[in-house]
Amino acid sequence: MLDLLRPNLYVESFHHIDFDYLRQQGIKAICSDLDNTLVAWESEVANPELLDWLKKARAAGFELYLISNAVPKRFEHFTRLLGVKGISNAGKPRKRAFLQALRDLGRSAEEVALVGDQIFTDVLGGNRVGLFTILVVPLSKKEFLGTRIMRRLERVVMRWLSLKKA
Ligand SMILES: [Mg+2]
Repeated sequence: MLDLLRPNLYVESFHHIDFDYLRQQGIKAICSDLDNTLVAWESEVANPELLDWLKKARAAGFELYLISNAVPKRFEHFTRLLGVKGISNAGKPRKRAFLQALRDLGRSAEEVALVGDQIFTDVLGGNRVGLFTILVVPLSKKEFLGTRIMRRLERVVMRWLSLKKA
């Protein structure tokens, strides 16, 4: 069980993801969580650094995809803004959305990385279908009450796993 909670990689933010390293791992596509991974929770804007990163990821040959538990209205605002397709109301850590993403991308699980800020939704869900999981530090401290409670449990798990940032 604990192994399903362990990310393949733990980094400070999406900026710290090494594209060359991902390519060496055989990764062809990057699926990402939205809130607190790419944009701050409740933020409606995409900052220039994010747009620049998306451009660099594409230039490095990666196909991009979003998997978010956000409601469709907020999600569609960002898919338009970022020009990235994906799935809202994903119900992570259930497998359904991750499997749908693999079908949409036409990729096998070993070829896809999953970036997210939560162990119990992003990392667990990604690991369950065999994706290369990358945990990032949440962009904002502001979150749903339920998420804040889960963060306590997350900190315990991170100590158990002795997670260190790459
Ligand atoms: Mg998130």
